[in-house]
Amino acid sequence: MFSNFAVHSASGMHYEVEIRDLTQRRFVCTCTDFRINGLGTCKHVEAVLMHVEHVGKSAYRQALRQGSGRVDIVPDRERDALQIERNKDLLAIKIRRQFDADGVLSHPDIENTLNKLRQSVPPEVRFSVEIASWLESRRLARERKKLRRDYELGVQSGLHPAQETLVPLFPYQREGMLYLAFNERALLADEMGLGKTIQAIAACSLLHRLADPCALFAERAASLLGKNLAACEERYPEEAPHTVLVAIVERDAAQWKPRIEQLHAELFSTQDPLSPVRLEVLDRATVETMQRLAEAGIVQITHRATRHLYPMDNARSPLGAEELARVQACRERAARKLKMARLLQAEKMDEEAREALLAAVLETGRALAIESRLPEPPNPVAALAPPLSHAWGNAHATLAAILSDSSVPIIQALVLLENC
Ligand SMILES: [Zn+2]
Repeated sequence: MFSNFAVHSASGMHYEVEIRDLTQRRFVCTCTDFRINGLGTCKHVEAVLMHVEHVGKSAYRQALRQGSGRVDIVPDRERDALQIERNKDLLAIKIRRQFDADGVLSHPDIENTLNKLRQSVPPEVRFSVEIASWLESRRLARERKKLRRDYELGVQSGLHPAQETLVPLFPYQREGMLYLAFNERALLADEMGLGKTIQAIAACSLLHRLADPCALFAERAASLLGKNLAACEERYPEEAPHTVLVAIVERDAAQWKPRIEQLHAELFSTQDPLSPVRLEVLDRATVETMQRLAEAGIVQITHRATRHLYPMDNARSPLGAEELARVQACRERAARKLKMARLLQAEKMDEEAREALLAAVLETGRALAIESRLPEPPNPVAALAPPLSHAWGNAHATLAAILSDSSVPIIQALVLLENC
């Protein structure tokens, strides 16, 4: 009666049902429904119970009366340990000693301990079928923890941007984003108005980033090579379906090549045959030579685009002289408007001061747009709207408040704007 039963469903699936206790209804089934419904039973368990009761009425009644004579070793999820569920005294003393007085065995390396235990206990001791899924969920939890730690380290070292969204998240929203991204199933139940949508969007963006094998390659290459990695890019050839990951090392490309190739093989073992990702390992000197030759018109560069993967900060090429001059002009106009706003404010001409302040916001917004390679805003509202909003940093909230409410005093904004 207290056995493991093989159940075959009409749809061709096979499950295992474990009957441990009839009066306290301790059962397990390996189906998904049992795992997630939280009822401690499922149709397969109930079918087994009906069947055994039907085919052996007296044996069933006896089992109900006497209980199980088996020693059952089961996972204790709350304590994250193994537990002897019943009949502990039937175990040999030398094995029983490995468990504490409550019959609980906890060990940091539980997998190893479990293997040893399986070899030493007599066959009538039953290891629950639940143990496998428990070990798997522990492994996944460890993996998620490591992924989250790796991500946080990546943010600190500049491999990942600090923010996933153009509007920076509040700390509690960031926590929500991480919770969503690093749990298999998660429910976000913040109060209304706290920004669940942006947390969900940020989590999607984060998962998308982490699922990008090229970005992951750059990250892993950077930790493997340290300072020896000068840059990592993905280049897109003009007329070919494949892309090329270019790892640029400071020197000794030939020496680094096998290790980088190994990493490439590991991450791209299952390649999309329609757009494979190839690898090139080059010395910085070689790349510079090629650039020089291209500038001299001797060789032609035929890739249509480059995606900069490492380092992130160098992803943007520096502004040209003409752009710098435009930025300078905007900033000078902004400074004049600010000065005017200060004078008008001192004279208690609040409305005129506010107008001058908004003109300064527009000019500063134009400068920030040129610096961020975004379209220049036509008015102060556009200057503070996404995607430019993130360029304002700490000043954004105060400036946006002034823009939407003419009764907000401008004095704080004047100080903030001078530092934008
Ligand atoms: Zn089931």
